[in-house]
Amino acid sequence: MKVIIVGGVAGGASSAARLRRLKEEAQITIYEKGPFISYANCGLPYYVGGEITDREELLLQTPEDFKARFNIDAQVNHEVLSIDKGKKEVTVKNRITGETFTDTYDTLILSPGAEPILPPFEGLPSPLAFSLRTVPDTIKIREFIEREKPQTALIVGGGYIGIEMAENLTHAGVHVTVAELMDHVIMPLDYEMASEVHQYLRSKGVSLLLNQAVQSFVTKGKKIKAKIADVFYEFDMVLLSVGVRPDTKFVTSSGLTLGPRGAISVNDHMLTSDPNIYAVGDAVTIKNFVTQQEGYIPLAGPANKQGRIAADNIAGIPSTYQGTQGTAILRLFDMVVATTGLNEAALSKTQIPFDKVYNFDGNQAGYYPGGTNMTIKMLFEKSTGKILGAQIVGFAGVDKRIDVIATAIRFQKTVHDLVDLELAYAPPFSTAKDPVNMTGYMAENVLDGTIKQFFTENICDLPTDGSVTFLDVRTPAEFKRGHLEGAVNIPVDDLRNHLGQLDVNKKIYVNCQSGFRSYLACRILTAHGFDCVHLAGGYRLYRILDTEAEHEGGFRGRCGLAKK
Ligand code: FAD
Repeated sequence: MKVIIVGGVAGGASSAARLRRLKEEAQITIYEKGPFISYANCGLPYYVGGEITDREELLLQTPEDFKARFNIDAQVNHEVLSIDKGKKEVTVKNRITGETFTDTYDTLILSPGAEPILPPFEGLPSPLAFSLRTVPDTIKIREFIEREKPQTALIVGGGYIGIEMAENLTHAGVHVTVAELMDHVIMPLDYEMASEVHQYLRSKGVSLLLNQAVQSFVTKGKKIKAKIADVFYEFDMVLLSVGVRPDTKFVTSSGLTLGPRGAISVNDHMLTSDPNIYAVGDAVTIKNFVTQQEGYIPLAGPANKQGRIAADNIAGIPSTYQGTQGTAILRLFDMVVATTGLNEAALSKTQIPFDKVYNFDGNQAGYYPGGTNMTIKMLFEKSTGKILGAQIVGFAGVDKRIDVIATAIRFQKTVHDLVDLELAYAPPFSTAKDPVNMTGYMAENVLDGTIKQFFTENICDLPTDGSVTFLDVRTPAEFKRGHLEGAVNIPVDDLRNHLGQLDVNKKIYVNCQSGFRSYLACRILTAHGFDCVHLAGGYRLYRILDTEAEHEGGFRGRCGLAKK
């Protein structure tokens, strides 16, 4: 059996190694157009920032290692130019010598990954503009920083790579501005969750230009001017990270079926429309695990797993890929941002009726020193409580909570199942009812009607003519620092003594700081015959959006800044 693999990094290297473990007799050749195989793409930003100091650390395996351990022939600097599936043949170019030749296969695995999208901006390419995909890209950026000592950088695009690079360029002593076409960074987050990230990034000295389109560039000597929303800004360097697209140009003439964005269509066995060609990783379409719709989510975990699945199938083991749910995590300075499943923006485009909760919770017992808080937003199906997605913004402990919820989604569990989870607890690690359990309890309360919620985006639409009551149940000191316009202040601990002050015929909209005391207040009020709803996420979330409005000049779904 002769197997050719195109691309020798995440999916390609993974499929090659698995296939060797299953088929000792197979002849396996990897063609990799770059100079390295099996390198740590996900670690590249940390080499730029200096956290990874030795570039050798990025190279997980060399062709010699692959030959010695796996008896795999890894040909670097060899680009596959085209596929003739009738002849079962690929045309390959040796990028060092320029020589072109053909090679035949019994089975072909395509793992060419994704390339950065480089919009055709006027003024590019420029010696001061970079993109980041490969080890050579990384070395180029690092050497530029060491040589030119740039003071300012523009990052075009606030996705995962752009934001990781914002941190790492800051560590390298560069003042970073991120320009993002959309109204928030990190698209898998919803706007209000990203707003917390925006404010944290600004506190770390990163400037944000949101909702602003980069239009063109002009390079003069060691400066590059960027025209952004008709204003000129000057920088010492630019990083383009507006997203990626499948690196499949060489596949287009092959006749293989392609899906959205030119990604290669595959079935659950990672088999393409040709029975002798498998494809994996950032180059393929995926089935979204939550919606079961075809989609495109480029991530390292799926690429590695799909590589293994393709190898299994070639070796006669009918493994299947169950879909991608988009579980991802990102560190920016000390903050951690993680997502899994669908966000509210994506769910709003489906027919699935959903609800949401916000849990602002500690990563460890409140009395134990050194704790930090995290905001968990969880989305779930209204009729069944099935978990559809979650976003967490916080610090320590975000990684374990997102992984628990991601696991629950993978096993198609409901919010009720989260309540039952027995999770590891001691004061330095969690609370006796872990934030994941608490999020489950909150969602259960919503589903069974124990609590009714209203949201920051509803505030603007609520009557201000006195026909409803706005009640703030925080302490007078908290109230004084800022509150919703028109709210009366009765701290939750005094509420039972002041029920007579409230009109039982008016609906009561209650808020506290994060949503816990307002929940308690609503339980008291409901028991006394009031119609009560509480503000999910509390005044804290409202204030985050309010602060964002001060920066961005306009908060959607709100009637004005919070009264200060
Ligand atoms: P790749 O690993 O990109 O490998 C494809 C290889 O194919 C490339 O080396 C390319 O040179 C080669 N190739 C392409 N065309 C040809 C051809 N015609 N002939 C020969 N060779 C070819 N994902 C995460 O989940 N978490 C992270 O933290 C994370 N961080 C990232 C940081 C950066 C800077 C980058 C660039 C990506 C990051 N990713 C991350 C994404 C992750 O690296 C990819 O999802 C994963 O590597 C995809 O694997 P792949 O095998 O499909 O493609």
